[in-house]
Amino acid sequence: MIISMRAGATKEEVDHVIEQIGKMGYEAHPIYGKERVVIGAIGDERGKARLHALEAAPGVEQVVPILKPFKLAGRELRSDRSVVRVGDLKVGSDQFVVMAGPCSVESREQILETADAVKKAGAQILRGGAFKPRTSPYSFQGLEEEGLKLLAEAREKTGLRIVTEVMTPEDIPLVSKYTDILQVGARNMQNFVLLKRLGQARRPVLLKRSMMGTVQELLMSAEYIISQGNSDVILCERGIRTFETYTRNTFDLSAIPLLHQLTHLPVIADPSHGTGVRSLIPTMSKAAVAAGADGLMVEVHPNPEEAFSDGAQSLMPREFVELMADVRRYLPLEKRHL
Ligand code: PEP
Ligand code: MN
Repeated sequence: MIISMRAGATKEEVDHVIEQIGKMGYEAHPIYGKERVVIGAIGDERGKARLHALEAAPGVEQVVPILKPFKLAGRELRSDRSVVRVGDLKVGSDQFVVMAGPCSVESREQILETADAVKKAGAQILRGGAFKPRTSPYSFQGLEEEGLKLLAEAREKTGLRIVTEVMTPEDIPLVSKYTDILQVGARNMQNFVLLKRLGQARRPVLLKRSMMGTVQELLMSAEYIISQGNSDVILCERGIRTFETYTRNTFDLSAIPLLHQLTHLPVIADPSHGTGVRSLIPTMSKAAVAAGADGLMVEVHPNPEEAFSDGAQSLMPREFVELMADVRRYLPLEKRHL
């Protein structure tokens, strides 16, 4: 339910409503806007009608239901777009945020060389998997903590922020020690135990859409994280599986403006996994800018031919430089900058 306070309602009136919501067994999520306070009352859908009684409380203007199932991720309660801060970066603002780096952290030389290259090209965040969810148990599984340490060293040397995947709830403390953003991979989008634990983590979360996930399911997964207390969620469109086989996935560009209509959360695009084809990535990156993406995630490898994972979709550093030059030219059209 949304409890809208009258413009000019006093602090005492707001606090009283918050207290009453708690007494009824619901959690109060106050949003202090410029003109008025609105309070989300979130909890068991059964019995929520009782909250209508709050219309009689002093200072309350109206009590209306939140129609969408994603109560906290949706725009009914919070209409302004939210900005997720990563150090001094603001994801979801007019600042466009580029996350680039290899699919997997493979060696010290590989990650330091890539970090240096993507930094020089203008990326603000270094990506690289240390825990890799692979289709085959015989494929490279990642360097684990050693990989995290290498990412931390690259951050130290370049000042880039780090995003890396966490696959299990148990690994959250370890990965949090080394990273700025915790990535949930497509294959874990509906790992509800992981999502709940990330809701208690003190780090922004990059939530990737699963290859068979609908937009609503993506938003419900974000809701799991936010409802546990962590509202710093960045969504990522990374392609879905369709009958098309020329591309690895079908990059669902329309999901970006659709998500902006449905949610206040920032949305970034990953054309690398979205297409799986190196030659398509520059064009789809520009398309993502035009579609309103708040940022990009792009795989870059100094020697894609020898990459341990996702070589076919990894750009060489010089190709990434060209992509960034192109993106830079497009950003002003969308009133954004790097
Ligand atoms: C990745 O970012 O390397 C990755 C494994 O992506 P996804 O979870 O989208 O497949
Ligand atoms: Mn990858």
